[in-house]
Amino acid sequence: RGGAADDVVEEAVTTADGTDVEVAANVGTPQELAPAAERGADGVGLFRTEFLFIERDDAPDEDEQYEAYRDAIETFPDGRVVVRTLDVGGDKPVPYLDLPEEENPFLGERGIRRSLGPDADLFETQLRALLRADADTDAGSLAVMLPLVTTVEEVEAARGVLEGVVDDLAAEGVNATMPEFGVMIETPAAALMADVLVEHVDFFSIGTNDLAQYVMAAERGNDAVSELGDFRQPAVLRAIDATTTAAAGTDVWVGMCGEMAGDPRLTELLVGLGLRELSMSALTVPDVKARVSETTLEDAEALAEHALAAADRDEIIELLEQS
Ligand code: PEP
Ligand code: MG
Repeated sequence: RGGAADDVVEEAVTTADGTDVEVAANVGTPQELAPAAERGADGVGLFRTEFLFIERDDAPDEDEQYEAYRDAIETFPDGRVVVRTLDVGGDKPVPYLDLPEEENPFLGERGIRRSLGPDADLFETQLRALLRADADTDAGSLAVMLPLVTTVEEVEAARGVLEGVVDDLAAEGVNATMPEFGVMIETPAAALMADVLVEHVDFFSIGTNDLAQYVMAAERGNDAVSELGDFRQPAVLRAIDATTTAAAGTDVWVGMCGEMAGDPRLTELLVGLGLRELSMSALTVPDVKARVSETTLEDAEALAEHALAAADRDEIIELLEQS
C-alpha cells in the first residue's frame, strides 16, 4: 500500500472516459502539508484544525491561527484547502475548554454544536483568522467546512456568523470575501436531509468515520463491533447515495474525507456513487489517482448500482472482489 515515490502523479486525474475526480489529502498537522503536495495531492480535502488547540493550556490567538492557515493555503497555490472548523468533544478532548462530563460524548456537545454554543468566541476567532489568511494569499483558495452538522438551522446560524465576520473584517479594511462554504455529512440526519441542506451550501464532504458509526450504531474504534461499522455495509452505501443523489444536477460538489476515501479497492465504487473529490492520507493519493484513471464512469456506475441493491456486506465484498 502507498505506492513508491516514483508512482506520484502530479497532475489532476480523470476517469478513463474523462470525468474529473479531485484527489486531495487529509492533513492533521502542519508537518503533513509538504509531503501531501509531494505525493501529488490536488489540494487538501480535510484540514483538521484540532492540532492548534490540543496539548496546550489555552486557546491559540487569531494571529497564531492565521499563520497556520496561510501556510496551508500557500502550500497548494493551484488547489483548494478545505479547512474544517474546530471539531472537539466526542473522542477529541481539550482540557482548557471545560468540556462537560457526558455519558455518551459521541451524542453530546461536539463539533458545530459547541461552535454555536459554548465555544462561540473561539469559532468567531477561527473564522477571522481563516478569512484574513485567505485575503492575504493571491493563489490557492479556502473552503470552510462545518463538522457534525445535523440540521439546516445549524448551517444557517454558522453562515450568519461567517457573513458577520466578512463584514467586520471589511469594515477593518481587510479584503475579506465569502469563501466556499460546506458541511460534513457524517450523521444520518445530514444524509437524510441532504436534499434540503443542498440549498444552503457549496459542497458536501462525507465523513465516513462518523457516518458509519452513527448509521450502524457501532462505535468507531471498538473492535467488538468493527464488522458492523464497516464502510461496506449496505446502509452506509445508501447514506452516501442519498447525499450524492441530493446534489446531482446542482452546482454543489460532493467529496469524501473519511477513511473510506483512501482505500484504492473502493475507488471505483465511490466514483460510481457520485463522489467527485476524494480526500485521504497522503500515502494513498498515488494509488487512488491510478485507480481513478483506470476506471470508466460507466463501469463505476454499474458497480455502484449493484452494490446499492445488495442485501448485506458479504454481497458487497464479493462484488468488489469481482470488479
Ligand atoms: C469522519 O468522521 O469521517 C472524519 C473525516 O472526521 P474525523 O475522523 O476527524 O471525525
Ligand atoms: Mg468526524
